[in-house]
Amino acid sequence: MYLKTLTLKGFKSFASATTMRLEPGITCVVGPNGSGKSNVVDALAWVMGEQGAKSLRGGKMEDVIFAGTAGRPPLGRAEVSLTIDNTDGALPIDYTEVTITRTMFRGGGSEYAINGTNCRLLDVQELLSDSGLGREMHVIVGQGQLDTVLRATPEERRGFIEEAAGVLKHRRRKERALRKLETMEANLTRVQDLTGEIR
Ligand code: ATP
Repeated sequence: MYLKTLTLKGFKSFASATTMRLEPGITCVVGPNGSGKSNVVDALAWVMGEQGAKSLRGGKMEDVIFAGTAGRPPLGRAEVSLTIDNTDGALPIDYTEVTITRTMFRGGGSEYAINGTNCRLLDVQELLSDSGLGREMHVIVGQGQLDTVLRATPEERRGFIEEAAGVLKHRRRKERALRKLETMEANLTRVQDLTGEIR
């Protein structure tokens, strides 16, 4: 599995559609200060479902949409597509190539698609979680982030290990199932109350 192409359109400083083709092995992005190198990394995190504006170096989620320059008006939407080579089947999906797309409209939420079919954020997270490209983004080590790992509490460190080992996905599924169970129990109590009143 490797990242094959990344296309940005209206994302941060990338107003026009820009596609980067990556090869297996090491890719370096070089450029002057402020030319948008970190924006490329932000786009990778964003398309994989990043939900924190701060992690994307912004104040609010909408800050990822091209805000305009002296010569170009702001855009109404940001779109990033990431194509992953899956010939080794590392992603649990029957395609040798997987394209994840995330779109955000100014004033609206995000839309996700896998190979052109609309899906939920959860579907993207589940698709990526077994491959190591999980929600917690241990694959992206930002500036100053090593410090965070070194200063992490034992509980936080356990979280990193669980994410890397793929345990976190099952923990989240368990939490979701327990929440559903709680709702069902509340509904059951309500039904029992009503039955009691009717009798
Ligand atoms: P450095 O080498 O200094 O770390 P860099 O190449 O990583 O710089 P980035 O931080 O990726 O640069 O890009 C910063 C540029 O992106 C700034 O010029 C900023 O104005 C621009 N930028 C960020 N968000 C937006 C946005 N929403 N709309 C337009 N431009 C944006």
